[in-house]
Parts: sequence; structure tokens; C-alpha cells
Amino acid sequence: MAFWGNKPEEQLPGGQPHPPGQPPAQPGGLSIEESYQELLKTKGRAPGIDLAIKLSDMILEHAVQERASDVHIENQGANLRVRFRVDGILQDMLHAPKNADIPLTQRIRVLAGFDPEPPTSFRNEEGRFQKMIAGRAIQVRVSSFPTVNGEKLVLRVLDRQQLGLDLDQLGLDQESLVIIKKLIRNPYGIFFITGSTGSGKTTSLYAMLKNINTAMINIISLEDPVEYRLEGVNQAQINAKTGFTWAEGLRTILRQDPDVIMVGEIRDYESAEISLRSALTGHLLFTTIHTISAPSIIERLFEMGVPPFLIASSMLGAMSQRLVRKVCPQCAQKAAPPSEAVVSEFVKNMDPVEGNMIKELILKPGADYKVEKGCAACRNTGYLGRIGIFELMLMNEEIRKQVLDHNPTDMIRRTAVQTGKLRTLLMDGIGKARSGVTTLSEVIRVTATMV
Ligand SMILES: [Zn+2]
Repeated sequence: MAFWGNKPEEQLPGGQPHPPGQPPAQPGGLSIEESYQELLKTKGRAPGIDLAIKLSDMILEHAVQERASDVHIENQGANLRVRFRVDGILQDMLHAPKNADIPLTQRIRVLAGFDPEPPTSFRNEEGRFQKMIAGRAIQVRVSSFPTVNGEKLVLRVLDRQQLGLDLDQLGLDQESLVIIKKLIRNPYGIFFITGSTGSGKTTSLYAMLKNINTAMINIISLEDPVEYRLEGVNQAQINAKTGFTWAEGLRTILRQDPDVIMVGEIRDYESAEISLRSALTGHLLFTTIHTISAPSIIERLFEMGVPPFLIASSMLGAMSQRLVRKVCPQCAQKAAPPSEAVVSEFVKNMDPVEGNMIKELILKPGADYKVEKGCAACRNTGYLGRIGIFELMLMNEEIRKQVLDHNPTDMIRRTAVQTGKLRTLLMDGIGKARSGVTTLSEVIRVTATMV
């Protein structure tokens, strides 16, 4: 951050006691640590399992209220540690000596459908359960891992309410939103989404399906796992053990008279080839693929052995995404734009045309840059909630020609940027920093692997 020279100019005036729609940070006024200490006091008066039920409920209530995506429960020898992942960052919530009278991990294991005691030899254990918290059904996926210090449980908290599944709420700028709404109404072709784990790809895919979902079209999806049930969509779960692989699933789907197909992930030649061919024969496909940027999807398909003509003729476009933390509206401070020297240094290793665009975008007057500070509402992190940043690449004749010539990613990327069809993740992120939604340092942290 120092690198950016963003210095606070003044404290933002005013601020509300709580951001709208945000619950207070601590249910019942107690932190998990305090509630745990309270529980210990009742020890001896209540059976251990009652205490474990109370403790596990309390942890989950806190997790939902604090918008945690994952809860880590770690047995570290004689100690117990509970951490929450909030806005992509792990935070310590409870650090205490373990109490043998409160069988917390056994309680979670039973909820997940495991045996109360961990197996003596390693076995992959995955389970799930549903729980009503604050009046809504929260799904929890549980994974167990044997560490040398004892069992570690990770609880993935799936809160349907947090996942808005509304295309307009993802954080796409107006122009991209209009383009995407048009693009997902194409009668045929394939659209790719890429991004790291936890970048919100699945949410985007679901939001797109939800946006076009009507009784007049047959939407079928292949997923692993099926994370959310979408009304009116025929969702199928991949199961390699029973032979229901991606490729087999795709072949089956094509006999089900589909209009729109969602393929959770393309990871091999066979499923890539079937997907792209069906995109040429009157089907609209959405899928994700594992690469670092939108233009590099093409090279990934080349590596899988997909012929260039098939990519050039079926691909509609691609989107890459990441999540950036939003700066806390209660404690954010105004920041001066970085100096020209700092920005020049930052862009010096970029493609010259792209570098100049970035530089102009950062230095253009009229920005409302912010810098994070930290307060009680954001647990002193300076950030509250997350928003997507997006890179949208649309195919055009120039890019198609690059594909047919089997050119590498950097040439495809340059062509896409220069022909105005690619606004990169960094450009979109800078736009969101300029409007004060996030900070420049956060955008650079999240896109660091891109430049
Ligand atoms: Zn704050």
C-alpha cells in the first residue's frame, strides 16, 4: 500500500451506526470467546453433549451473522482454535484450551453424518447438513482432515440469501451488463467463465441461468457438486464412480432435447470437444474452465487438443473474474491519487498499449479514491463485504483470425485490448477503486498474478 502512496486526506464525515442490512457484529453481545467461557462455567451442571450442541449452534450463528464462507475448527493438541473466513480472509475467533467435557468435533461429525469418532486409518470424509439459523435454512458442507495435532474440520457455509443470484447485483458495469444480457440470449455458441477457486464463478453461472430461465426453454446442467437448487433447471450431479462422467453426462444431455446447457467445468479434451461441437449445432452452453485470464482460455483449449477452427466458430466470448473486498463505508478515508512516477513504475513491464491505458485510467482526474482504516464494524480490517471485478472478452474477426493462426495468449490478449473488445480485470478493478467502492491496493493485491 505504501507503494501506492495513497495517503488519507481527511476522515470521512458522519457515518451510520450500522450499514443498512448488516446485523451487529456480535449476536447477544457476546463474542464466541466470551460465550465459550460462559459455557465452561456451566460445566458439571449439564451433560457434555448439551454443551457441545450449544457451542456448535453458537459458532454457526456467529458464522452466518458475520458472513463467514468457511468455519475452521482445529484441534491443536490441547488447544482448540476456531477461525472464520470472512471476505476471503481467515480470522481468529476462538483460541482456548480444549475442554474434554465439551465434545465439539463429535457433535459436528454427527451432524455431518460421520461416525462420532474419526476413523483410525485415513478415509476421505465429506458430509453435509442443514440448519435453521435466524429464520433461514443454511446448508453446511463438512470436510474432515487428520492433522498430526488432531482432527481439523472445515465447514463451508452456504447461505442462499447471501447469494443473490441476480445478474444486476454481481458488480458488472452497465455496459458489460447490457452486453452479457444480450450474449446469453444467443441461440447457440459457448460462453466461458474463468477465475480462481472462490472467485464467484458459480454464482455468475447461476445468475446467468436464472436470468434466462423461462418455461419455454429446456435448461440442463452438469455439476460437481450441485451447490444450489435452481427452480426450473434440470440439474445433474457428476458421479465418476458410477460412470456418470462429464463426457458421459454431456452425451446423455444431448439426447434430452436441451436449449441451454451448463457444464460445471471443462477439464479434458473429450468434454471440451463435445461441448464445442454441440455449441455449433444449435445449443447455447455456459461453462467454466481453469485459467488465469479470459484470453488464456483459448490456449488452454489448444493444450487440450481442441482444433482452432472449432474454437473460432463456436466461442461467443469469455469472462474472467475475481472478488475484491469493499472498503468499509464507516471508516474509509479519502485518498490522494498515486503519483505519476509510482504509476509509471507499476506499468513498466506491461504491454505498452495496455500499460498506457492503465496509467491514464489511474491518473485521470475526478477519482474518488479511498484508503482503508479500520473500525469495530469491519473488525479493524478496513473492509466490509466483497464485489466482483470482471474481464469480458467478446469474439470479433480479429480475435478469430488469431485463434485460427494458433497464436499464443499474449497476442490474442493484445488484439483483444487493441480492438476494444477486452476490458481487463485490472481496468475494471481500477474503475471500482476510482468510484471509492474498493481501494487501489486491494485491486492490485487481487490481480497481482495477472500482470
Ligand atoms: Zn470500518
